[in-house]
Amino acid sequence: MNEPSCVFCRILRGEIPSQKLYEDDATIVVRDVNPQAPLHVLVVPREHVQDIAGALQRQGGEERVGKLFSTAVRIAADQGLAAGGFRLVVNTGSDGGQTVGHLHLHLMGGRQMTWPPG
Ligand code: 5GP
Ligand code: ZN
Repeated sequence: MNEPSCVFCRILRGEIPSQKLYEDDATIVVRDVNPQAPLHVLVVPREHVQDIAGALQRQGGEERVGKLFSTAVRIAADQGLAAGGFRLVVNTGSDGGQTVGHLHLHLMGGRQMTWPPG
């Protein structure tokens, strides 16, 4: 199900250009428009769902969320980040800093990360 005004649904429909690294029948991986690391991509399910909590409530949700993570880890390895490490982030809701209401994983790497995040 697509949402007309959702940024990631618009990317999925080709209405907003994006730099795509990978796609399959369930997922696309695009470079973040405002990268915070040398590699910063977004792992986005094709299905519009607000956040990880909503995704997990759906039929087969745990398996689908698991696939998003395995896709992210595979892309990290493909991009040469397996040895040095990387960071996966799922901002959720207002306090979590989520700005786009369509579930996505941030995959970031290629520099030393710090903790805590802002
Ligand atoms: P959030 O804050 O929801 O976790 O992350 C949303 C991310 O989407 C941000 O890192 C932001 O830079 C990225 N973003 C917002 N609009 C676009 C866009 O039009 N294209 C791409 N590729 N990324 C976007
Ligand atoms: Zn959407």
